[in-house]
Amino acid sequence: MSKNLTYQCLNCGEKFIASILSEQEQREYREQKLPYKPVRCPKCGRSDLRQQ
Ligand SMILES: [Zn+2]
Repeated sequence: MSKNLTYQCLNCGEKFIASILSEQEQREYREQKLPYKPVRCPKCGRSDLRQQ
């Protein structure tokens, strides 16, 4: 199960909801060597975010 968290972009101020990986999913990603994508702002693409 992934969790939905609200983020605010520190660059443009956009607020959005993104799901993050659970510990179980992170483990699966590591085991399968899948690329882990960090959360990014959907508007400007920056990853300077504050978690709400
Ligand atoms: Zn932004």
